[in-house]
Amino acid sequence: MPTDQSTLPVAHSDDVYASRLIDFVTASPTSYHAAAETGARLGAVGFVPADETRPWDEGLPRRGYIVRDGAVVAWILPERLRDEAGWRIVGAHTDSPALKLKPSAAIVRDGLQVLDVEIYGGPLLNSFLDRELGLAGRLVTRDGRTRLVRTGPLARVVQVAPHLDRGVNDSLHLDEQAHLLPVWAPASADARPDDPERYLCELAGIDPADLAFHDILTFPTERPARFGRRDEFLASSRLDNLSSVHAALVALETLVRDGGRGAGGVERAAEAGPVVFIANDHEEVGSATRSGAAGPLLKTILERLAGTLGVDGDARAAMLARSVCVSADAGHAVHPNYPHLHDPAVRPVLNGGPLVKINAQQRYATDAVGAAVWLRACAAADVPVQNFVSSNAVPCGTTIGPITASRLGITTVDVGQPLLSMHSQREMCGVADGPRLSRAMRAFWLGA
Ligand code: ZN
Repeated sequence: MPTDQSTLPVAHSDDVYASRLIDFVTASPTSYHAAAETGARLGAVGFVPADETRPWDEGLPRRGYIVRDGAVVAWILPERLRDEAGWRIVGAHTDSPALKLKPSAAIVRDGLQVLDVEIYGGPLLNSFLDRELGLAGRLVTRDGRTRLVRTGPLARVVQVAPHLDRGVNDSLHLDEQAHLLPVWAPASADARPDDPERYLCELAGIDPADLAFHDILTFPTERPARFGRRDEFLASSRLDNLSSVHAALVALETLVRDGGRGAGGVERAAEAGPVVFIANDHEEVGSATRSGAAGPLLKTILERLAGTLGVDGDARAAMLARSVCVSADAGHAVHPNYPHLHDPAVRPVLNGGPLVKINAQQRYATDAVGAAVWLRACAAADVPVQNFVSSNAVPCGTTIGPITASRLGITTVDVGQPLLSMHSQREMCGVADGPRLSRAMRAFWLGA
């Protein structure tokens, strides 16, 4: 008899999980929205927001979180810390390649207004073409308050027709300043540009005179969609790396909901070692920011949490030495039309299971010790594992794993969901891999 998928826990139903992921991506057009949405969903299952601008000596929630800009950190602390316990950390990132609004944003040209934008991260530039884009991000008023804002379909990077560019199908060249400015309005009668900041202020209910500054990025407004012969695939923006953030979020929600039941639960997880989830911002631009993995965010939070657990000085260093970090970020599946770009023997596929990412130059932090921890978690969750390693002829990407490992000295393993079209505005994944990644994270937090 077919199972009624709607009654299964999220991470045990590909259909329920995929529809939740679609909702999460849709609610998270920027890193700021992703961090806020993650906080809101954690709040809905009993995580309490903490104030990082106040001392944490007393009254810190055992199950809590902070949102710092586009980053979020959550934790579950045990009632009593076992002597041999270490931090059990899952890391991911909230940001994705996009176009970012410049300060003086609109320009009038030939009867149209275009937005002046910078490139954020390393997008596939052609994937912006002929796609409806919205603007989203945060507005900060002169009194220092932050307001999140998002538009509907508003702009479009328009490609030139092949009749006008005869060579376009031989080689598409996009000049980063000249060719990527999105059209967002017709020119007005007096040829003065409209002000996108003013428009965003109106949407957010702010007097434009009160606006101090903004962090505003484009996002594709088309909703993610399942596709394929049996709906095995999902097309979406920002799967790198909301696929990992969502997997960890569902794992945390599941831990809490399992509560009193024998199979798992929040207490058992915290007993195995304090649970920490961190989703940093700015991975796509090198992580060297206050909310990025190369900044002090994780180190600071771990020190403060250790303080509330009564772990100081040398004991704190010993606890770090017993800790493990699973760094989750999307990886590459083998592309069927470009098979030569991949390793000849290691051929990960969509829907084949989450990846363990390996690189001899340590562009990934995975070593044999970290891999063993992750393989145990996958075995405990009955999740298949695939290896990823680059072809020697293709430079390997990197992620937050090596940064976290080198900043904190914690054993780290780089993992993630396989994708095709990474850094496109419409990426592709398999619907079976997300629930598996989530179940393996839960097993890791349960002490596998
Ligand atoms: Zn990534």
